[in-house]
Amino acid sequence: MTKVNPFEDTLCRLKALTKHCKDKAVRFNEKDLELLSAPKRILIVNFPVKMKDGSVKIINGYRVQYNDARGPTKGGIRFHPHVDIEEVKALALWMTLKTAVLDLPYGGAKGGITIDPKSTSNEDIEKISREFIRQIHNFVGPTKDIPAPDVYTNPQVMAWMLDEYEKIKGEKAPGMITGKPLELGGSKGRDVATAQGAAYIFREAADEYDLSANATVAVQGFGNAGMHIARILSEWGYRVVALSDSKGGIYNDAGFNIEEVAEFKEKKGSLVDFPKAKKITNEELLLLNVDVLVPAALENQITKENAANVKAKLVLEVANGPVTSEADAILHKNDIVVVPDILANAGGVTVSYFEWVQNNSGYYWEEKEVLEKLEKKMVAAFKEVHELVKKLDIDHRTAAYILAINRIVEAEKKRGNLTAEEKVK
Ligand code: NAD
Repeated sequence: MTKVNPFEDTLCRLKALTKHCKDKAVRFNEKDLELLSAPKRILIVNFPVKMKDGSVKIINGYRVQYNDARGPTKGGIRFHPHVDIEEVKALALWMTLKTAVLDLPYGGAKGGITIDPKSTSNEDIEKISREFIRQIHNFVGPTKDIPAPDVYTNPQVMAWMLDEYEKIKGEKAPGMITGKPLELGGSKGRDVATAQGAAYIFREAADEYDLSANATVAVQGFGNAGMHIARILSEWGYRVVALSDSKGGIYNDAGFNIEEVAEFKEKKGSLVDFPKAKKITNEELLLLNVDVLVPAALENQITKENAANVKAKLVLEVANGPVTSEADAILHKNDIVVVPDILANAGGVTVSYFEWVQNNSGYYWEEKEVLEKLEKKMVAAFKEVHELVKKLDIDHRTAAYILAINRIVEAEKKRGNLTAEEKVK
């Protein structure tokens, strides 16, 4: 399969927006888009870490702050053997768009470390996490840039990072990172937020596109995002017939009991040997004859090579960047609705925002309140995006990009970074 550079691919998407610039609903021009064609700041760090076995490993880490016109930058930190600067740039650009679609007072950022956490001991992950913060501490902070978990990082990693930051600064600063454990100022509801938010979006889309109440669903990826979305959709009565993780997938036409699969994966490390299921590959999962496909793992899963064979009616992008721009065009031509990542998975950053608000005020909310506020935000964003879809006769991704860039460009104009239209008297 040809490797697609996710950052270059997103720049192509931005470029394609210029054909809509003449429409009244679009409040930016080709020149304004230049501001979003490169990140504002990139920090690349290489640092030695003495590992548990006595060896010294040179670790590569990245933090990209893409755009901060609307507020402090915000975005997760990924630990994965394939992390590289192009991926982190793309993820930071998507965060910039995502926070704007949800109208959160943030810009966008992302970080990553190129390691394989599966073959690294917990002690070594702790050392690497702490050293990464020692490298980037002047670059992040509650009013500058606020990290969070992403692929293969979790509340424990956030706790180590927060602890190291607070030791360096000599003060408590819970708002410097989100997705923390509750004991350190995390928010109730953050663990399920990405999936819960995606479920609210799915409910709105299913309503618009008349998806039946017993539609079938395939979910790729069984981590924080994938496991919870499979569980919620199954609790809502949908038939989740296929699941997968990095080792492969499983299929059962009768649908899975998600709690059972989660318990099995917890014990065995993978779901692939789950009994009463047919083994399938991750590639096969994407092409199943299901109503709803939920990619919830990594980017570049649906490309120009397999897009024509996707049979789902609706693709809910819980992962970031699972569909390439060339694949988008093919899916659109085949009348497949794609609910884009910057809308579908924005529940995570939305509850991260709530966590930061709670940290800043020192007053903590019950889960019910968090989820009610999340639902309101997600539904409002879906309606705004869908309104543009109808008005301009465009797909949901193009609409979400336009909504986001309108807001970012307005903020840049008010700051005086772009030519404003209003004359000061
Ligand atoms: P996670 O580390 O909790 O889980 C990742 C899952 O993906 C694991 O089940 C893993 O086995 C699986 N996986 C890895 N490589 C795979 C492959 N090649 N094929 C199939 N499955 C594979 O990560 P997560 O937090 O659930 O993140 C998943 C996706 O959701 C990422 O794209 C992430 O950026 C996005 N996302 C996560 C959040 C969040 O709050 N966690 C928020 C927004 C977006």
